[in-house]
Formats: sequence, structure tokens, C-alpha cells
Amino acid sequence: MAVITLRGLTKVYPGDVRALDALDLEIADGEFFALLGPSGCGKTTLLRTVAGLETATAGSVRIGETDVTRLAPGRRDVGMVFQDYALFPHMSVTDNIAYPLRIKKTGKEERHAAAAEVAAALGLDGLLARRPGELSGGQQQRVALARAMAARPRVFLLDEPLSNLDARLRLEARTFLKKLQRELGVTTVFVTHDQAEALAMADRIAVMEAGRIRQIGTPAEVFRRPANVFVASFIGSTPMNLIDARVRGGQVEAAGTPLPLPAEARGLVTDGQAVVYGVRPDYLDYSASPVDDAFSGRVAVVENLGSSSLVTLDVEGVLVHALVGEGGEPEPDERGWAVPRTERALLYSDGDLVNGN
Ligand code: ATP
Repeated sequence: MAVITLRGLTKVYPGDVRALDALDLEIADGEFFALLGPSGCGKTTLLRTVAGLETATAGSVRIGETDVTRLAPGRRDVGMVFQDYALFPHMSVTDNIAYPLRIKKTGKEERHAAAAEVAAALGLDGLLARRPGELSGGQQQRVALARAMAARPRVFLLDEPLSNLDARLRLEARTFLKKLQRELGVTTVFVTHDQAEALAMADRIAVMEAGRIRQIGTPAEVFRRPANVFVASFIGSTPMNLIDARVRGGQVEAAGTPLPLPAEARGLVTDGQAVVYGVRPDYLDYSASPVDDAFSGRVAVVENLGSSSLVTLDVEGVLVHALVGEGGEPEPDERGWAVPRTERALLYSDGDLVNGN
């Protein structure tokens, strides 16, 4: 069942900035859902419009069975955690966490008991009397989460909640947040511009560009089968090779190299058609000696990524990237061959994936 349903949601800011453009989206009960996209694509606006902190210009927001489009934030049954946590600096941890209950006019004893319970669940027991300024970034984040949880909302909205943490804490917080969400089973919408974070944590991801959703899918779906060139170039820690190509004689010719057509594109493309051949560096097998169906060129760059290296081949002026495991790295200026795994290759036509669906 959908807990959040957006229909034709549009937000135009003064100055004619169309931050959300007739967007449709359904988020299921208990889902951990990530909104991912480059800066300015409308992620925060989407979250704030669901929370009621921005008014929709057109379209509707439903939470459960209720149309909340015109309801005040306090009446929407959502808890929001902001990027900067927005804790009250003059209040103790307990009072910060209990704040939403105070707004709901819950009695002091009851709200302190509830705050203590949530604080314990988040490992904040020893810090209840402190003020936010006396806490680490990670602890402040937990207080912000605890405050959002205290009122037991139906939906959590998290706006880049990990962005203020250093790299190590961020990894810890990721695991913690994912585990917590699983345990609570609360429908959670999570904004991030960090694709690794979205891939690691979310049940499903919506990839946004300029106020629209370009693809919705599980992390595996958006990684393996990006629906368009935009998503293909945005997702993946090493960007996908996207090479201008042409269908020719039952094959596809990319960077002067005839390659087998990806199976799912067979019958859907015509001879002479201009396409883009997409394959991730992870799915190219590198060889230092000649092999068939391979991109062949001069090694231009070798970047050490730790347990693997990213090798860039110059294939007739087109740069092709391949990930090479430890020990197999070539030297710059050597000749190299890289065979794309056809079952992992994708064809794009006019920017969209060519497939049988
Ligand atoms: P980031 O990752 O940088 O936070 P975002 O994807 O969350 O970006 P939004 O903050 O939703 O993007 O902004 C979407 C667009 O709306 C941007 O072009 C932004 O400049 C514009 N915008 C946001 N808030 C306002 C506002 N209050 N008034 C006018 N324009 C705004």
C-alpha cells in the first residue's frame, strides 16, 4: 500500500523557477526511499512540499488515505530531520527530543519518559542533560533523529542527514540508520546527492533531474539498467563508458570497433542507426595481448583505486575506461585490449535505453 502518493506535484518559486515539474510518485509502506540527483534538481523542495514547509503550486500530496496538500506541517504526521539538524541550542537533549510532544501538549512526565525511551534506542542515554553545543556531530544527528521519532510519525523525511559527518562517522551512521529504519519499519524518504549512499541504503531510488524523476528502481536496477543516458552517467563510482556508436551489419560499431549487439536490443534497432554504447568499466575485461571483440588502444592513464585500477585506453581518440584488478595493471603507453561483456552492455537511442519493454 502506498503511504505517500504524489500526483502532478509542481512547485514554481518566484522568478519562475520550476523546482518540481508535474511529478508522480508512490512510496510504499515501510519503504526506505532515496531521492537522488545533482544539486538544484529539486530534492529538498520535494521533501519540504511533502512536509508542508512549502506549498505546492499544483498537484497533490496524500499521506495514507488523507489528502494533505493544504494541511499545516504539524497535522501531516511526518517527522523531518534537516541537514543542519536545527536543534535548539539553549535546550537540553531531553527537551530537544521531547519538543514535538510539547507542541502536541503532552504532559511533562509523559514526554520526558518518551524522550528517555527514544534516547536509549539511539544510544544517547548518558547525554540527556547536555546541550547540542556539547555534542559531537554524530551525537547531534542522533538527537535530531530522536526528536523526529519521539512523536512516532507515520513518515520520516530526512534531508541529507549524514552530510555534516566526517567520512568515517558517515559510514557508521549509514549502517546505524539503515538498521534503525529496518527495526522501526517506518516509511522513510531520504534526500542525498551521494549516489554511493543511496545505493547502499535505499530499498528504492528516484533519480531526479531538473524537477523531474528520470528513473525509479532498486539500487540494482538503476545501477545495472539505467533507463537513460542521464542516469547512466550519474550512477556509478566510476562513470559508465558511453560511446557514440552505429548499428552495422547486425553488430554495433563503437570507437571503430565492431562489437556484438546486446541481446535485448536485437530486433529493435535498424542498420545504420546512431546509438550510444554503454558499458561500465567494471564490465570490461582487460588484456595485455590481442583478443577478439575488444577495444584496442594505447594506455593513456592508470589510476590506482586501491584494490583495483582504472585504466583509460585511447581508442582512436575515444577514451574507454576499464577496471583492472590488483596485479594486472598495465604501464602507460603500452598497447591494451578491453573486451566488453555483451550481457552487461546497453544501447541508448535518443538518450533512452533500447530494450524490449
Ligand atoms: P541541493 O542538492 O543543492 O540541496 P536540491 O536538489 O535539494 O539541491 P532544491 O533546493 O530543491 O534542490 O532547489 C531546486 C531549485 O529551486 C533550484 O534551482 C533552487 O535554486 C530553487 N529554489 C530553491 N528554494 C528556492 C526559493 N526559496 N526561492 C526561489 N528558488 C528556490
